[in-house]
This record gives sequence, structure tokens and C-alpha cells, in this order.
Amino acid sequence: MAIYDPKSLKAEEFINHEEILRTLEYADAHKNDMELISAILKKAEPVETEDGVKCAGLTHREASVLLACEDEEVLHRIENLAERIKERFYGKRIVMFAPLYLSNYCVNGCTYCPYHGQNKTIPRKKLTQEEVKAEVIALQDMGHKRLAIEAGEHPVHNPLEYILECIKTIYSIKHKNGAIRRVNVNIAATTVENYRKLKEAGIGTYILFQETYHKESYLQLHPTGPKHDYDYHTEAHDRAMQGGIDDVGLGVLFGLDKYRYELCGLLMHAEHLEAAFGVGPHTISVPRLKRAADIDPSKFDNGISDDIFAKICALIRISVPYTGMIISTRESQEVRERVIRLGVSQISGASRTSVGGYTEEERPTDTEQFDVSDQRTLDEVVRWLMEMGYIPSFCTACYREGRTGDRFMALCKNGQIQNCCQPNALMTLKEFLMDYASEETVKVGEALIEKEYANIKSDKVRAICKDRVQKIAEGIRDFRF
Ligand code: SAM
Repeated sequence: MAIYDPKSLKAEEFINHEEILRTLEYADAHKNDMELISAILKKAEPVETEDGVKCAGLTHREASVLLACEDEEVLHRIENLAERIKERFYGKRIVMFAPLYLSNYCVNGCTYCPYHGQNKTIPRKKLTQEEVKAEVIALQDMGHKRLAIEAGEHPVHNPLEYILECIKTIYSIKHKNGAIRRVNVNIAATTVENYRKLKEAGIGTYILFQETYHKESYLQLHPTGPKHDYDYHTEAHDRAMQGGIDDVGLGVLFGLDKYRYELCGLLMHAEHLEAAFGVGPHTISVPRLKRAADIDPSKFDNGISDDIFAKICALIRISVPYTGMIISTRESQEVRERVIRLGVSQISGASRTSVGGYTEEERPTDTEQFDVSDQRTLDEVVRWLMEMGYIPSFCTACYREGRTGDRFMALCKNGQIQNCCQPNALMTLKEFLMDYASEETVKVGEALIEKEYANIKSDKVRAICKDRVQKIAEGIRDFRF
């Protein structure tokens, strides 16, 4: 039997099944232990120190106790704490991105994904470089600056060379005032050598969802193809780190297995990255299983309610306070509103989850990976966020300034990152207002920028930011701290 060891590089030791079972048992035994629960909540509280505010976060065991507890008052305290941590470390900023689907050719057999190799009903499509260009121009014309590229796994149709070529094309397109300044990558697990090539291509975060941490379920849900190899998949972030990518993203596809097992596994994975590489995950995504061509989510009987989903988001926020949290258009406007308040820091807008979808007049559904719940335009999403008091940010500065991995985390932990994020958010929002927004959105946005200058702590940075916003109005672009 494998022994639990967060520092180990073996999947079965850092995501240890017995440790998860012991944790869930412990959580059940202590879910009404109010003294312990209060101590856990106290531990997660932000604390003022000489170097700024610090948060200790929570272990997988502590978070699992809170998840098991059904007391309404405790839930209220969890949500309140999550909101305060969110406000303290992320302010009102919400980073915007869009997915770009490159190819739906896939050799895997993931039973929940319409791209699975056995699906003969879905039209297969792979973008040519000309088509990539057209998609990117369409995305730039909406105002996007940050993309997450997505592709199925296929050694012949989408080998790494194809992905690298696409990244090169994406970064090369400068259309009007537009530019894609950060490309995050969500492609199948690969080798250290390939991760090194992705790093050299200038990617931001390497994102790979675990789908489920439960090995037995994983093997059933991925019956064929290279993705069937649970260990290779689970150890992928380690290989990415070894290849020099120090910003990696985790995620669980909620609905595949039991949510308590998944949250525990997810937090163990974060603890492992911290223990083995000294830097936790850059982001955590929280997708929920959706209907898609050939896929009926009701066949998977572990779907979670909006209430449980919100609680999980709040628990992630208080457990790993320095990790960004991402939510996609899989969720409705209503759910997005709820979880943004509780900790989500990055959202997609106006997404099309089909290959070539951005250049179509109507949202195509035949090659879609999943149903999109939030179908608003980017302008509408930006205005909606601002009307709730949030600052949509198109910032991509950190990795371009070399603030990745432990450098980013160190700045995050001592709070200095705030002096970069707030002005960068305001400057990139100003660019959006100048180049892409509707009249109504401009009105709301200009008022917001004026109001939010006050939240830049340093007088010097505030003055430079105001000056740069003025220069953006005069036509200059791409300032950053
Ligand atoms: N092929 C890569 C892989 O296997 O990791 C890339 C990512 S795939 C295009 C992106 C993610 O979409 C998957 O990791 C999975 O979690 C999610 N996904 C697949 N089918 C889904 C569905 N029916 N509903 C919601 N999300 C789904």
C-alpha cells in the first residue's frame, strides 16, 4: 500500500487514496465539533504582520471538516471569511479571458467529452494558421488580450509542433490596437521536453484538469487512449515544473465523482506542488459537467447543487488564498455572480467552445465541447461586472515582467502585488473602453476608473497611473507595472 507523502513525485503517494479516505472519515467524525471548527476558521483568518496581511490557508483535512459540516451558521462564517480574503488579496479586480479551440481531433475515450475518439457524429475540425489568424482577429476585435488555447489529444492532427505553430501565430497578430498578450495552454499531459518547448514559446499558465482524483473512477471514465494513464496525467504538473513552467493550473470536473473526495484530492495536489517545488498552483479551475453533443450529464450521478458548488468555491478561496480561481461560461450569470463574490478571480467572456466559432455569425453548436450557459457579449459581461462594482482587468503584466512561480507568490504573499494589479487593471480597462466598448459601457467604466484610483495605495504609482490613462486616451497602448 502506498504511503502518503506530499513531497513524493509518485501520483499514488501525493494523491493518496487511503489518506483521502482517512480524511473523509475524520471529517465525518468532527463535522459537529464546534470547537475544532472555530479553531480551523480562526487559522484561516487574515492576520496583520509587519510585512502586510498574511493568510495561513487550510490543509485538505481542515477544509474537509468544514465541507462536511452542515451547520448554517458555519456556512455563513465560511462565506464571510472567503469574501474578506477575496477582497483583501484580489480587491475588486476580475481578470478576463477567452478560450480558443484549435482542434477537436482526439484519440482519447473520455466518456463525458464529445471530442472522444469514438464519437462519429461530431464533425472533426482543426484550424489552419489562416483560420487561427481569423479567430484571433475576431477575439481581438471584442477586446480580448488573454487566451486559453484548447485542443484534443491527437499525435497526427495536433502534435506539439502544431500547438507551437499556433502559439507563434497568435502572438504575431497585431490588428488595429489589438494584441493577444498572454496565451495559457490547456492541452493533454506531455513530456518534460515538450513542456520546455511550451515555456520557450512564451506561454503563461499550463492548465490541466485532473477531471477526477479518484483513480478507479478515472480509469473507467478514460477507458482508452493515452489519458487512461492516471499516474502520467496526475504527474503532468510536476513535469511542467521540471520543464521550467512555474505557473501551472489545476482543476476538477465536478460531477464525475463525489465532491468531498475531489476537494480533498485537489487540495492535496496544491499541497504537493508547494512541498515538492516550493510554489503552489497559479490557478484552480472549477468546471462542472455540462450537456454536450453525445453527452448527457444526467448519466453521471455525482452532479452538485449550486449551493454545494458555492461552498466549494469559498473553501478553495480560504484554503489556498494566493491561488487564482477560474470560472468559465459553463456557469450561468446567476451562479457566476455568486461565486465571484466568494473568491473567483478570473472569468471567461463571450466564449465559443467550438473549433472556429468566433468567426461564425451565429454561435455554432455542432463542434461545441459543451453548452455555454452565459452567452452574453464581452461588452455586456464587462458592463455587468462594473455595475456590480468589479473592475474587469485585461492585465497580462506578471509573466511579461517575469513575475511567475515563486516570484509571483512572494509578491502575492507580502501584498506588494497590489501596487501592480490595481493600476494595471485600470489601464487595461481604459484600453478596452477606448477601443471596444459601447457608449453605455464607456460611461460606467470612466466613472469606475475615477473612483478606483483611490484604491492605489502608493501616491507615486497613482500619479503615474493617472498619467498613463491620459496617454491611453491619446492613443498610446500597452503600459504596465
Ligand atoms: N484534451 C485536453 C485534456 O484532455 O486535458 C484539453 C482540454 S479539454 C479541451 C478541456 C476540458 O474540458 C477538459 O479537461 C474537461 O474537464 C472539460 N470538459 C470535457 N467535457 C466536458 C463537458 N461535457 N462539460 C464540461 N466540461 C467538459
